[in-house]
Amino acid sequence: MRLEFDDALPISARRDEIGAAIRDHQVVVVAGETGSGKTTQLPKIVLGLGRTAIAHTQPRRLAARSVARRIADECDVELGAEVGYAVRFDDQSSRDTQVRLVTDGLLLAEIHGDRDLRRYDTIIIDEAHERSLSIDFLLGYLHQLLPRRPDLKVVITSATIDVDRFAALFDAPVIEVSGRTYPVEVRYRPLHESDSGDLLEGITAAIDELPRDGDILVFLPGERDIRDAADHLAGRQYPRTEILPLYGRLAAHDQQKIFGPTSGRRIVLATNVAETSLTVPGIRFVVDPGLARISRYSQRLKVQRLPIEPISQASAAQRAGRCGRVADGICIRLYSEEDHDGRPEFTDPEILRTNLASVMLQMASLDLGDIREFGFLDPPDSRAVADGIALLRELGALAPGRGAADRLTRLGRTMAGLPVDPRLARMLLAADRLGCLGDVLVIVAAMSIQDPRERPLEQQQAADEKHARFRQPDSDFLSWLSLWSYLRELHDQQSHSKFRKQVQAEFLHYLRIREWQDVHTQLRRTAKDMGLKPGPTGADPDLVHRALLTGLLSQVGLREPDGREFAGARGARFMVFPGSGLAKKPPAWVMAGELVETNRLWARSVARVQPEWIEEAAAHLVKRQYAEPHWSIKRGAVMARERVTLYGLPVVADRLVQYGRI
Ligand code: ADP
Ligand code: MG
Repeated sequence: MRLEFDDALPISARRDEIGAAIRDHQVVVVAGETGSGKTTQLPKIVLGLGRTAIAHTQPRRLAARSVARRIADECDVELGAEVGYAVRFDDQSSRDTQVRLVTDGLLLAEIHGDRDLRRYDTIIIDEAHERSLSIDFLLGYLHQLLPRRPDLKVVITSATIDVDRFAALFDAPVIEVSGRTYPVEVRYRPLHESDSGDLLEGITAAIDELPRDGDILVFLPGERDIRDAADHLAGRQYPRTEILPLYGRLAAHDQQKIFGPTSGRRIVLATNVAETSLTVPGIRFVVDPGLARISRYSQRLKVQRLPIEPISQASAAQRAGRCGRVADGICIRLYSEEDHDGRPEFTDPEILRTNLASVMLQMASLDLGDIREFGFLDPPDSRAVADGIALLRELGALAPGRGAADRLTRLGRTMAGLPVDPRLARMLLAADRLGCLGDVLVIVAAMSIQDPRERPLEQQQAADEKHARFRQPDSDFLSWLSLWSYLRELHDQQSHSKFRKQVQAEFLHYLRIREWQDVHTQLRRTAKDMGLKPGPTGADPDLVHRALLTGLLSQVGLREPDGREFAGARGARFMVFPGSGLAKKPPAWVMAGELVETNRLWARSVARVQPEWIEEAAAHLVKRQYAEPHWSIKRGAVMARERVTLYGLPVVADRLVQYGRI
């Protein structure tokens, strides 16, 4: 293998120093601007120390592949031989592989079969500043592992943010390799309206404002926005200009185009992957709408969402920095300077944005040990941990084990594979079993977004009238299904812009509908990958509700006789929210998709349920009490009166049953 270093890269000048630090310490932190050579050069430095089993992690598959290819080229070896990569469903490494690029998720999964990661002598955790759950898990796990593996070396790399946290956790030295950067002029060009159509115009205007002689990098929140923008820009027919999309699901050879030769000008339309993971070469200008899809747990909705959000100031600075690497650059931000200054300094680490139950489920499925003893950079609080355990037991993902600790059930292991809140994952699995997954996928996707039905203050009545067509008497969940099929028909019949106008006229939020469709597509794909069978919609509504109920057992309620108030689990009391189709004549038993506390506790998205369904779905939770055992001559058996309760609610108030077996 050839181990040569390009002197133009800032890291090259420091390679002896870095090598010495790695020799002398078990953990070393290398910080530096993006493009300074950390990702591509560090493995060669480590190889130079005689280490031959290196895991090199990347937050994204796209980066793992492309970095592996680059390092293989630099070392003049075949990809898959001494330098290889492994991502889910695609392993291009062999027994000869000395540098193995992996996603951080994949390395975590390897802990399962290789508790001490014996396969590796060195682990490079790249892009640690991203602070995804996987990175936090890996760092925490390595922290425990290092004393058991004194020969193992760990190199952590980070952009120049948050570096001291890593150093403190491991008591490690920090080496900063900051390179020469050129000044970037930042211009603010706020959009007039925060809508997607305007976004495209904002991007076009920014491109027109920039000089024609340099490559442009445009940041967009997702794949779909990139495709829309690509179509839009293609229509403008810029001379000698190539439009290059860059996102995770793009075919590998299309991704590789950004590194290929070029004759004219290039406009690269990229997701966050171009923010720090990949350095698109030769960029002179950046157009930054200031948005990204950021996964977030909604305390209110109790679901994990993937909303498009304003990025942090640190991200904005990173993005701007992408055009100051080869010469002076210009970055046009499609928002105002006041907006920028009011934004949070950093993006919160994912662990603080995620439902703890979901974190705990991931940890259990990876067999990472007790969350209470784990070396987190940001440990979660203990009350929340207890709530998380209770919820996972309710969902049947954890069951009391032999010792004090709970064990992960088979169901729990499958749930961990679904990228949604555990409650919703439970519903999907039940739906698969009951044969109504097609319907429940639509509903679960709807529960993962904000309600697209708008109710503007001045036009509440008009909006309610429009929305009334979708109402279903016994179930707000079914109204999602009727809205869904209406939208599909509308979409098939009309052009894109007409569809958009039409839904707006019906007080439906266009971008949220799109998000609903996106989440649905993604979930459906994951479900299929996992071997589930999503059929069409239109299953028996009772089955749909029984599936939903498995995820909502602590959100059922029994109406007071002659009243409108419901008794809920563990002494809670709630009313059905006025916007619900069941508010006027609430049935005896309901389940609520969400319980929201305002001036009082409200149940939103409710449906009628049968107590027998509850008894069945909550078999692992209900308490059974027996009274008046007696011998029945008629039945020839000992009979007793049975009372079945769930979280204090009488699911069966009084029933005569056979008592014990004779
Ligand atoms: P860092 O990890 O510090 O951000 P990198 O090691 O990723 O830096 O990048 C160092 C340099 O190598 C950059 O100038 C980048 O453009 C270049 N580079 C990285 N990958 C490729 C590739 N596949 N083809 C061409 N150049 C690349
Ligand atoms: Mg890098």
